[in-house]
Amino acid sequence: MRFSYNQPSMRVLFGVGVLDRLAGEVERLSARRALVLASPGQRPVAERAARILGAVAAGVFSEPSLHVPIEVARAAYETAKRLEADCCVAIGGGSTIGLGKAIALNSEASALPLIAVPTTYSGSEMTPIHGVKEGGVKKTGRDPKVLPKTVLYDPALTVSLPRQISGPSGMNAIAHCVEALYAPDANPMSSLFAAEGIRVLARSLPVVVQEPADLDARTEALYGACLAGAALGATSMGLHHKLCHTLGGSFNLPHADAHAVVLPHAAAFNRTAAADAMRMIAGALGAADAAQGLYDLALRIGAPVALKEIGMPADGLDRAARLATEHPYANPRTVDYAGVRQLLEDAYRGTHPAPPASA
Ligand code: NAD
Repeated sequence: MRFSYNQPSMRVLFGVGVLDRLAGEVERLSARRALVLASPGQRPVAERAARILGAVAAGVFSEPSLHVPIEVARAAYETAKRLEADCCVAIGGGSTIGLGKAIALNSEASALPLIAVPTTYSGSEMTPIHGVKEGGVKKTGRDPKVLPKTVLYDPALTVSLPRQISGPSGMNAIAHCVEALYAPDANPMSSLFAAEGIRVLARSLPVVVQEPADLDARTEALYGACLAGAALGATSMGLHHKLCHTLGGSFNLPHADAHAVVLPHAAAFNRTAAADAMRMIAGALGAADAAQGLYDLALRIGAPVALKEIGMPADGLDRAARLATEHPYANPRTVDYAGVRQLLEDAYRGTHPAPPASA
């Protein structure tokens, strides 16, 4: 066995109520003034965090930050400077954590360490991937500087996540695991995270959407998201993430919804070229076929299954296929315009993936 795996240097605290340990975690970073970031809807949680922080709370910044618009990132950075913050606490989904990363990336503010308190299943808190939207285009990159120093996973904070966000967000986490299993830099450790991530998410998400207040299911789903984020951070993503990035960045489709719709079709596209990974995915889902199992799970948890349902214009499919195929990147099956255009057509209509040829 030969592999390489970079172990990120970060601290993870997991469990119901860990938010109460926030002040101690700020102190552990030798910080004295923490700026709390949250989306407007999550402001009450941010204010609770500020109360927990007491004297070390520098203030709360809560502005909409979907896809991290550069203007919002600048405003957050200016606020951090004005309040003389020496640390940020990002409480929320991938958008808010992305905002914290944008502040951490800013060279002048590079000393600002980030504590992430995720409240969705995006997994961003476990990755060195950052992204900012500027001039209608989302630019992403990887930099260890943006990796949170500490992540507090408190499942109690996810109970308020509505069904229609929980389901797609869970599929977003599963998508990280799926692509990690067939990534060119997949290794036994990232694959262990990924397969277990799919297993616990597939088991918990149906309960989460049925009983949003079921804390055991919420705990399991958040643990799955943590594993998925670790798998995402450790590997390179392929066609599926490229497509979702294109659909979100250039067509403004909701990020997690796009993942839920595209994933079964991306798995069908890669089915033959990544046969071993597909067996692991199917096994973790408890399904006979990975692509069909992913589609059935999306249906079962009420996640969208058709691009036409989530705002994709039919006349945008050609452009999306062109954008997703203009630059080469690693993917199990060669990415070509005709194949990707067909994948997008299937995803647009929301067709059930056909069974594998051998079935
Ligand atoms: P989001 O952060 O935009 O949150 C979606 C909505 O859910 C928001 O309105 C938010 O206020 C609300 N919300 C969040 N937590 C809640 C809770 N507990 N209760 C009630 N409402 C709650 O969506 P997301 O899907 O988490 O993140 C998407 C963004 O994250 C995209 O910009 C995507 O590119 C990025 N992302 C980055 C990475 C990475 O590794 N860098 C990974 C995944 C996603």
